[in-house]
Amino acid sequence: MRKTGDILKIALIAHDKKKDDLLKLVEKHKNFFKKHELFATGTTGSLIISQIGLDVYRFLSGPLGGDQQIGSKIACGKVDLVIFFRDPLTPQPHEPDVSALIRICDVYKIPVATNRGTAELMLKSLENI
Ligand code: PGA
Repeated sequence: MRKTGDILKIALIAHDKKKDDLLKLVEKHKNFFKKHELFATGTTGSLIISQIGLDVYRFLSGPLGGDQQIGSKIACGKVDLVIFFRDPLTPQPHEPDVSALIRICDVYKIPVATNRGTAELMLKSLENI
């Protein structure tokens, strides 16, 4: 059971056409995110660092294995929640990795938000505790 003030390990990933959406979410909730430990796939992490100025541990880019690296961290119990803005309208070369990441969240009951609406609800509930 998590207590108020616990540092959460949060994974952030966005496909290219969803990166703006994720950056807007992180900027809006910057005060929340700066209290927690952030991980991201390569390009998503670079953008969060350069545009928002938060500390982010960067894995490889998603298509080069970054999604799988985050999946491995989830399987090891080292991620508390995932915000993964996937693009439902563009075929992705690493679609199997995308499915695997969402699947492993379900295996370990890790909350995963795949769009802005769900992410806002998730953050609202976390900011209120
Ligand atoms: P990226 O990877 O942050 O390196 O663009 C995201 C993805 O496509 O999974």
